[in-house]
Amino acid sequence: MVNTPFILCEVCGLRIDFNDENESSHQDQSSMARMAYMSQGFKIFRCPHCGLLWTQTNNELDPQTIYDHAYFQGGKPDGYDDYLGSESLLKVEARQRLELVRSYRAYGKLLDIGCATGVFLQEGQKTFSVQGIDISPFAVEVAKSKGLDVECCDLENSTNISPPYDVISLFDTIEHLQHPANTLRKVSSLMENEGMLFITTGDTGSLFARISGKNWRLLTPPQHLWFFNRRNLSQLLDRAGFRVLRIFAAWRKVPVSLMWYQFFRGKVRPLAGILGKRVLPINLFDNMTVIATKKEGLIID
Ligand SMILES: [Zn+2]
Repeated sequence: MVNTPFILCEVCGLRIDFNDENESSHQDQSSMARMAYMSQGFKIFRCPHCGLLWTQTNNELDPQTIYDHAYFQGGKPDGYDDYLGSESLLKVEARQRLELVRSYRAYGKLLDIGCATGVFLQEGQKTFSVQGIDISPFAVEVAKSKGLDVECCDLENSTNISPPYDVISLFDTIEHLQHPANTLRKVSSLMENEGMLFITTGDTGSLFARISGKNWRLLTPPQHLWFFNRRNLSQLLDRAGFRVLRIFAAWRKVPVSLMWYQFFRGKVRPLAGILGKRVLPINLFDNMTVIATKKEGLIID
């Protein structure tokens, strides 16, 4: 991405130029890249047309080394402080998510993309036939040890999935993907008409995100590569063949120790003895849950 003179916006397709020496004939269809933030050594750009924010990377980041044991267990400032230790809490969240899914589709086949250690799949398998994929070898090993049908790969390279699916979920995952537009088109191709899609991610259009600016808690490159708002994520879904049914900001029960970890970006260790396993229901209204369905009659190749 860094060495190319221009890119096409992942959402709206606008040609965005990185230098100002382009021929004037391009000017009506193109726009200059505008850096929105500099965060942790990475440039975050904003599409002047649709407002999508993205992290500029040099394509040398290896996702498998980013999402290692340390990412989940407190070794990286932008990861989790203790993912495995939080599993009981994650189960509560997974149950809430399953309830939401089941209010639209009660049974069938479910694929969880970015399933991590499989907490949602464990809940989901009570009523669905479930499969998962994740690019973290560490997380996939944990999920497999629970007897789950999970593959360590990205969607494009999966050899294990067996479409069509009734439900596909990407919880806190789309912001990590290399090419969200391609992935969503692929997701659409794996579903029957009216298959259900559930996405959770941050919302850059929220008041909290805008006030926080470059210090927004979810502005964590290079793990997070894309930062959407309600409008441009809906646009992306529309282009991938989905109809958005509902978008809302969900309440979450968050461990106080994780809030501490994110606030101090891992620089000040939580006082485990004092914080213990306390949790707080919290809603900063800077997240979004998107519920969408595959458009009828649409053929995706
Ligand atoms: Zn755009």
